[in-house]
Amino acid sequence: MSRPVLASLDLQALRNNLAIVRRAAGSARIWSVVKANAYGHGLDRVWNALRETDGFAMLNLEEAILLRERGWKGPILLLEGFFHADELELFDKYRLTTSIHSNWQLKVLQNARVHAPIDVYVKVNSGMNRLGFSPDKVSSVWQQLRAMSNVGSMTLMSHFAQAENADGVDAPMKQVEFAAEGLDCPRSLANSAATLWHPETHFDWVRPGIVLYGASPSGQWQDIANSGLKPVMTLSSEIIGIQNLKPGDAVGYGSRYRATQELRIGIVACGYADGYPRIAANGTPVLVDGIRTGTVGAISMDMLAVDLTPCPQAGIGTPVELWGKEIKIDEVAASAGTVGYELMCAVAPRVPVVTV
Ligand SMILES: *Cc1c(COP(=O)(O)O)cnc(C)c1O
Repeated sequence: MSRPVLASLDLQALRNNLAIVRRAAGSARIWSVVKANAYGHGLDRVWNALRETDGFAMLNLEEAILLRERGWKGPILLLEGFFHADELELFDKYRLTTSIHSNWQLKVLQNARVHAPIDVYVKVNSGMNRLGFSPDKVSSVWQQLRAMSNVGSMTLMSHFAQAENADGVDAPMKQVEFAAEGLDCPRSLANSAATLWHPETHFDWVRPGIVLYGASPSGQWQDIANSGLKPVMTLSSEIIGIQNLKPGDAVGYGSRYRATQELRIGIVACGYADGYPRIAANGTPVLVDGIRTGTVGAISMDMLAVDLTPCPQAGIGTPVELWGKEIKIDEVAASAGTVGYELMCAVAPRVPVVTV
């Protein structure tokens, strides 16, 4: 390995996080959400560490097929269902559970020729206004699907727009209740935030994603600091250059940082082409040789600069943690105006990945 940037994945942390989710979820079963290549961690690298789960949920048929080819025999849920009619053949062949969120999908399923009934998640729009049937249509959709020989087990599904807020599930839960009236239906509603903070949403299956990877659904590490959840990914690199600035000297593109006094800075081999957010503010936390410091200046494509004042011993080759066990991905995300989800998913293909 030449360039020192590296993402290491702690599979034990992943197992730990699933166990914590299991405790939080009570008697509900768990769909481990592994969409977006397991939130950027690499589905093929991590799925085995999650095999105590009850099922895997994702969006891409290719990812679902990969799991079947690797030997996963349990349930697989495609959260957005099929996009084109010809995909149903693969849902049938690989025994995948489909979401049904539109009349178009309903008709396609009705007209499909399958070898065995397909399990269905009927999606109700409880206020997010992304996908799903409006609550007043659910009863009719449910009856239509129930009458189809192509349909196996059925579950009512919905998704929360702001379950990280204390009263964030109240209105959507009313919509779900309305939709489910008179139906004897298993339910799957809870994302990570609802799994942790709204037990009344658990029902039959929860669908946690971000917490499995050890980041906070609220974007604030504080909110999960005492949960026992552990960061899975560590993005690390090394110092590859040192500069000694005089007062008035600038750092990097746009001279976004200017020294007000003598300042020793380190240049780290990690930039936005590795997935580090370009707009991270001056002072975004970085760990250098185990000591917390911050970035100075704009993030370049391949490098970033850090203040070495708190760590005068640091030099070429000194290890740097960009995010991981000490510097939480939520902190870096907050400093860049985004959430841990986006940073995880954006780690670039050029970053080598190891599992530990
Ligand atoms: C992404 C997603 C989840 C998981 O969300 P987290 O906030 O990562 O827990 C659950 N359900 C659906 C439908 C999703 O798209």
